[in-house]
Amino acid sequence: MKHERVGIIGAGIAGLVCADRLHREGIAVTILEKSRGVGGRSATRRLDESSCDHGAQYFTISDPLFAERTAEWRKQGVVDVWQGRIVSIEAGMIRDLNQPRERLVGTPGMNSIGKYLALNLDVRSNIEVEGVERLDEHWRVVDNAGHAYGPFDVLISTAPPFQTSRLFSEWSQQLAEQLECVMMLPCWTVILRFSAPLTIEFDGAFVNGSPLSWIARNNSKPGRGAPECWVLHASAEWSASQVDGEPAEVGSALTNEFWKLFGRELARPSLVVSHRWRYALPRDVLPMRFLFDDKLRMGCAGDWCGGPRIEGAFLSGDALATHLLEKQ
Ligand SMILES: Cc1cc2nc3c(=O)[nH]c(=O)nc-3n(C[C@H](O)[C@H](O)[C@H](O)COP(=O)(O)OP(=O)(O)OC[C@H]3O[C@@H](n4cnc5c(N)ncnc54)[C@H](O)[C@@H]3O)c2cc1C
Repeated sequence: MKHERVGIIGAGIAGLVCADRLHREGIAVTILEKSRGVGGRSATRRLDESSCDHGAQYFTISDPLFAERTAEWRKQGVVDVWQGRIVSIEAGMIRDLNQPRERLVGTPGMNSIGKYLALNLDVRSNIEVEGVERLDEHWRVVDNAGHAYGPFDVLISTAPPFQTSRLFSEWSQQLAEQLECVMMLPCWTVILRFSAPLTIEFDGAFVNGSPLSWIARNNSKPGRGAPECWVLHASAEWSASQVDGEPAEVGSALTNEFWKLFGRELARPSLVVSHRWRYALPRDVLPMRFLFDDKLRMGCAGDWCGGPRIEGAFLSGDALATHLLEKQ
């Protein structure tokens, strides 16, 4: 592959990890990303002078390869342990979790992981890929402004399955059939900022029996500093029922649900920001770590291949890079 060019759609963890492995082997990789920043759903939202993780909240480690790479991130100060007290809440009962786990977070925000991975990579931001073309055995992609990028010998997409399917199904029946099997669930997120700390005796909670599924005190994570900032995630069911809801209405509905957990409003937030993740979490995860059409040299990776969450996205991107390097 040494002299080949690889195009990767999406600068989330899967795309960046795949690109990083290939780049280290001297392969020319171009990443096209529709957002302004990198990291995808491992995201941090800027709010005036502060910021808050509104996508992935933390990650845990079970795979030895992921453990090895994250140890390097830790040494570089890119991630650190979140020492917050995490509980579960159900019907007003607050319980500490039975199995304490080491939870790691990007510092000073979850987006630090993506920024670190992207350091030496050719990432083109603000480019939303809308079309894929085949010219003389090569791939070319076109963005929503009509600009073309390429040619690429290999084309990878790490965009959610529905978006990847729209781009790839015209070319690969094999990939189209596999992509059809994956459904992503939405998640409404609300960020609440306060001018003073709230008297809540924990820092994060899995919530049961409520439209909320998770709440967390963002400023209890390492390196965040003041002010007091809580992030609320709605359950997949509630989010699906309100998927086209107005952000302001969703914000006030979920804020009310937050206060219900404590029996009363503890303070008035100075800022309420709502964000809808239309493709937040995979409902189904494919059993294979990546998809690749060897004949057409196009493939996909992401947290919906082989395993969910940040660890799954990492392993998927890494496995696809290994596959490409072994084919050289
Ligand atoms: C609300 C929420 C909470 C979560 N909580 C956790 C958690 O606590 N722990 C955990 O481990 N994981 C959590 N996750 C999941 C975690 O964020 C993901 O598993 C991981 O970030 C997925 O990485 P990825 O690279 O597969 O996909 P993504 O991060 O989605 O990356 C795909 C990238 O492709 C880009 N893209 C899409 N379409 C196009 C296009 N047409 N052109 C160009 N670019 C495109 C996107 O902008 C994005 O940057 C959470 C996710 C959400 C949304």
